[in-house]
Amino acid sequence: MYLILPRPVETALNRLETAGYPAFAVGGCVRDHVLGFTPHDYDICTAATPEEMQRVFQGERTIETGLKHGTLTVLLGGMPLEITTFRVDGAYSDGRHPDSVRFTARVEDDLSRRDFTINAMAYSPVAGLVDPFGGQEDCKAGIIRCVGDPAARFGEDALRILRALRFSARLGFPIEDATAQAVREGRSQLGHVSQERIAVELTGVLQGGHAAGVLKQFPEVIETVLPELSPLMRGDDWLLTLKTISSAPKEAELRWAAFLLQCGADAESSAKTAREILKSLKMSVKMMDTVSELVSYQRADLRLETMQEMLMLVGPERLGQLILLRQAVRTAEEKESPDAVARDTEALREKLSSLLSENACYTLSQLAVNGKDMAALGLRGPAIGETLHALLLQVVRGQVENERDALLNTVKKTL
Ligand code: ATP
Ligand code: MG
Repeated sequence: MYLILPRPVETALNRLETAGYPAFAVGGCVRDHVLGFTPHDYDICTAATPEEMQRVFQGERTIETGLKHGTLTVLLGGMPLEITTFRVDGAYSDGRHPDSVRFTARVEDDLSRRDFTINAMAYSPVAGLVDPFGGQEDCKAGIIRCVGDPAARFGEDALRILRALRFSARLGFPIEDATAQAVREGRSQLGHVSQERIAVELTGVLQGGHAAGVLKQFPEVIETVLPELSPLMRGDDWLLTLKTISSAPKEAELRWAAFLLQCGADAESSAKTAREILKSLKMSVKMMDTVSELVSYQRADLRLETMQEMLMLVGPERLGQLILLRQAVRTAEEKESPDAVARDTEALREKLSSLLSENACYTLSQLAVNGKDMAALGLRGPAIGETLHALLLQVVRGQVENERDALLNTVKKTL
């Protein structure tokens, strides 16, 4: 088997080999090549220790990413390459970190510590594909299978349970029976894993093209990490939620919003629970704000006529997302033809972009009058802000032009 590697990767492997250190592209990039996808990054493993790597790449820009764990990042041809010494992990007494790591001279040993067969392949132009666990076969068959005994592997590092779900959701590969059984039986060990790492993997599951199938198949695993979602996952809305997730664009905020739309009794309580869930996962404030806002506005009146008012309420970015979320919900409900839903969505998106390009007024600062104008009319204190807000509302509803005289006359009439 021959793989065409990017030039900087070839160069790095070549320089290590020339210096006497076997070196391989490894892990996700080899899997992606075997599957016919373009890898998004390349990891390299080698017999060289970090000090030896530093000698080999003297003169190149390097970043000391994790020398203790054997990792050096080298920038070659503008490409950051993470190069790691072959290693085997010692015992895992805490279910998340090896107590020690030991460097080794054999690539096969390094591959044996990796999580799934499809992730445990290495390739070099010198040695070809090194695949001691049948990764290529599992790629062909489309199967997620642990390297070695699944229960033991999940016992070492429970995060692998969620990684199995993530790869299954991304690739659409079923999880092999023994691995799936260990996923279910080992799920309580997820308690050892940090919330941040759980959040990353759950987001990865949700963003997968096959997220719904995985969530449907392993609800008890999701419940273990998000017990707040038990009612949702056991309730009548669960299937609709799954369809909504599948119908939403594969973007993290939208997928989380689709997932959490019905997590409470109504839009407001769902928004509150969504925020709490994302907070417990230590997600960013932006993620919490965005998702809870999307959930709280899930029933908003979205029509061509209301676009400008919606812009005022949530701003352009959120409104764009709300339109897509609404499309996902309507698609999932299957009450209308997908064509009709797509047409409506397109019209709303066009309306939104034309409002923005014609600089339509949706904020106080865009209003053709300001506080001074109100003061000149004799208004004082809070009445100024209230009146401006009322004017803005009339403008976004199309009841008055955003034009100075028209706005001033409107105020005068009410005085
Ligand atoms: P992605 O395309 O999502 O980056 P990846 O396979 O490159 O997929 P990474 O998380 O970047 O995944 O990890 C790189 C490699 O390191 C994996 O392919 C796997 O061989 C190994 N690996 C990562 N995390 C673990 C883990 N928790 N346990 C065992 N091996 C792991
Ligand atoms: Mg990777």
